[in-house]
Amino acid sequence: MRIRSGLILPLFAATALAQQPAAPPKYEVLAIRYATVPGFAVSDLIKGADPARKIDIAMYVWLVRGGGRNVLVDSGFYRPEFFKSWKIADFVRPDQAVARAGVKADEITDVIITHMHWDHAGSVDLFPKAQVWIQRDEYAYYTGAAWQKGGKHGGVELADLTTMLRANTEGRLHLVDGDGEILPGISVYTGGRHTWASQYAVVDALPGRVVLASDNLYLYENLDKHLPIAQTFDEASNLQAQDRMRKLASDPRLIIPGHDPAVLTRFPKVSEGIVRIE
Ligand SMILES: [Zn+2]
Repeated sequence: MRIRSGLILPLFAATALAQQPAAPPKYEVLAIRYATVPGFAVSDLIKGADPARKIDIAMYVWLVRGGGRNVLVDSGFYRPEFFKSWKIADFVRPDQAVARAGVKADEITDVIITHMHWDHAGSVDLFPKAQVWIQRDEYAYYTGAAWQKGGKHGGVELADLTTMLRANTEGRLHLVDGDGEILPGISVYTGGRHTWASQYAVVDALPGRVVLASDNLYLYENLDKHLPIAQTFDEASNLQAQDRMRKLASDPRLIIPGHDPAVLTRFPKVSEGIVRIE
């Protein structure tokens, strides 16, 4: 009897485990700074801020690693024209910045584009093997109505739209309809209205659910003082999105804003310009 149960019970246990759906991986999340824009007006980030205030904003991509995937949230920029029109410091080309975390450009499996601005969607072509994810409405607006009378396309570049179109012709572009899980343990949410249909990512990560807000939340101060971002199609919607981020994150400190240099001091350093969200 003892021998039988000793043999049979582990078999039952193994069968029960096999019947459960595979648990999504718990991801490691890294914030990777690839540049700094010094002396940026805080009033261009936080609605109603004192115009005299300036901040050296950090330019980030976020690397999500686990379950055989290397997912990049946003791609950064690198084309030379931006260095003429912007003062840029600490620049490391985004693919080389990601390499500092030990991941080569062609090992990036997915790039989630939160929105079409040049500093987020400007390096998709550096990651040639990646599946690319963007909201369908964002793609449709900036390839169409944004350039018609009454449309808005500030910060959106033809070259980046062309890159997205090329990815589409190569079968690598995924058009997402609103909120939902796009990869195991990685979901996107809309409503921030930084651009027409900007999205943010929520990751089942090792420390809990991490919200990678990108520009739907520029700075911690937006969240702490409940102030909308300065550049949005809809301030009320932006605040609602911030409230929702608080519900989605396991802990408010796991809500990561898009350009706050304090991210680099709040979390442990992995390498130069890289911290682990934990
Ligand atoms: Zn933006």
